[in-house]
Amino acid sequence: MTDAPLLSIKGASKRFGAITALENVSLEVGAGEFFALLGPSGCGKTTLMRLVAGFETADAGRVEIEGADMSGAPPHRRPVNLMFQSYALFPHLGVFDNIAFGLRQQGKTKSEIAARVAELLQIVRLEGVETRRPDQLSGGQRQRVALARALAPGPRLLLLDEPLGALDRQLREETQFQIKEIQRKLKTSFVVVTHDQDEALAMADRIAVMRAGRIEQIGASADVYESPATRFVASFIGQMNFLAGHIESGEFVGPLGRVPAGDSGLGDGAKAVLALRPERIAIAPATENGAGVDGVVEDVAFRGERTYFRLRLPGGETLRVSRGAIGGASFAIGDAARISIAPAAARFFASE
Ligand code: ATP
Repeated sequence: MTDAPLLSIKGASKRFGAITALENVSLEVGAGEFFALLGPSGCGKTTLMRLVAGFETADAGRVEIEGADMSGAPPHRRPVNLMFQSYALFPHLGVFDNIAFGLRQQGKTKSEIAARVAELLQIVRLEGVETRRPDQLSGGQRQRVALARALAPGPRLLLLDEPLGALDRQLREETQFQIKEIQRKLKTSFVVVTHDQDEALAMADRIAVMRAGRIEQIGASADVYESPATRFVASFIGQMNFLAGHIESGEFVGPLGRVPAGDSGLGDGAKAVLALRPERIAIAPATENGAGVDGVVEDVAFRGERTYFRLRLPGGETLRVSRGAIGGASFAIGDAARISIAPAAARFFASE
């Protein structure tokens, strides 16, 4: 067809009375891409998905799919399907009939339906439970039935609203991998809506971080994590320490001494914030020689694969540090510890 991206949202705005749910939102999703919309409750994620699916009309801007303007196209005329958080499975129908539902609506023949349902049951690994009703399935199995049902009509784009919201933690992690694998096999574009940053990082190729109806940053998951564009993104994704200071001769002067801040874009005298991930901070016994600032260990939490420290810096600031659980000196509460950082680990933002 065209070289146009699979999905293109151009300058979409949407108001509900006095509330601005979306403000000039633009983004593109490629064919076969796994994209995540991430943001706190009320930032407009669901509204944006409903706009793409055709359940909502934009006040300004538009949605294009494979280059075609979707304005005025009802939901069933779009090559898009939506999987709701509640799954909305038909409780009185078995697994087979739940998955077959959209295919019957499309007017497929009996044998076409049987073949397609069998294919999907294999993809989502649900062979053997065709006749069970939803209440006779585990939470994870229900989730996979919902996924198979949404994929059955062969959408070009699948929108998943908090797809793992109903599952417990361990099952969520397992299911993240399964969904990713299914997406890779089918090469259907997925847009997943979530407020859970771990989920977005684990599953998506690219992430859009939203705040109050606007997009704050779009990028590859690792880039958004490593190079957050705004302080909001830095605080919303992963754990982050923020230390206040100011810029002086191209350096950030603050609780950890002087840190090169040449590429921060902040001028001399500017009040600034140094952002540091806990895992990018080195911790060593205070007796060791070498550069750094000494703090006091206030808390140590061993959490399986990582150990987390809370330290108090000389100026009273709190710093969170984490490191792999194996190796390294051990620290007890009250110990003095030397903190040091690699300049590359530092991000700077203007003080708000
Ligand atoms: P959540 O993660 O809680 O689902 P969200 O990011 O999906 O939140 P939206 O549901 O898109 O957020 O809502 C964005 C804003 O628009 C919110 O302030 C919400 O209250 C408002 N809103 C959404 N739908 C309507 C509506 N039909 N009428 C009035 N206000 C609405």
